[in-house]
Amino acid sequence: MEKEVILGLPVAVATLDEIIAELPEHLQQGDKTLYLSINPQIALHANKHPEIVDLANKATYGIADGIGIVKASKQQGGKIKERVTGIDLMYRLLAFANERKESIFLYGSKPEVLNDTVKAIRREYPDVKIAGYIDGYTALSGEQVAAEINKVKPTFVFVALGFPRQEQWLAEYYESCDAKVFQDVGGSFDVISG
Ligand code: UDP
Repeated sequence: MEKEVILGLPVAVATLDEIIAELPEHLQQGDKTLYLSINPQIALHANKHPEIVDLANKATYGIADGIGIVKASKQQGGKIKERVTGIDLMYRLLAFANERKESIFLYGSKPEVLNDTVKAIRREYPDVKIAGYIDGYTALSGEQVAAEINKVKPTFVFVALGFPRQEQWLAEYYESCDAKVFQDVGGSFDVISG
């Protein structure tokens, strides 16, 4: 898929609809798919975190998660048409998982927020299989969380640890983790939990 470099990081030109339309093919081919939000925060601070720049370069899609990213594209004569927020993408991935009865794993947020997120997903997306969930303040190490994920082998892993922890966890574990689709979702569980 076509990408543009915005503030030093690759961002997908595709719209949200186009990004979702490409998912069946990634799954069919057995590719690991990583969605990484490119927002002003990551763009401003990534230079202090070489592992995050590296992750952004490996991501299947850097999503244009901020109107500033869309404006920067316009200013440099680029083609990014719309903002793709992490929460909008997560809702679409949940709907996709619901349609196909796929499994998900949730990692991050405060325990009560995470429990409410699980309840909301069970209510709104009843055919999604919730393979497991671990809050973002657990005593488990990142490695132990990855091991828990490997026991249940979900299709989707949503990581809500905030910047830069979620990107650092992904940088360390997404390649070895036994799941197919990964997204860093920032504060999305706080939204979904209501
Ligand atoms: N979070 C977490 N562990 C941490 C820090 C943050 O699980 O050590 C969670 C936090 O509870 C929230 C999400 O990460 O649900 C996003 O946090 P924040 O809004 O601070 O990050 P940002 O969206 O600014 O990157």
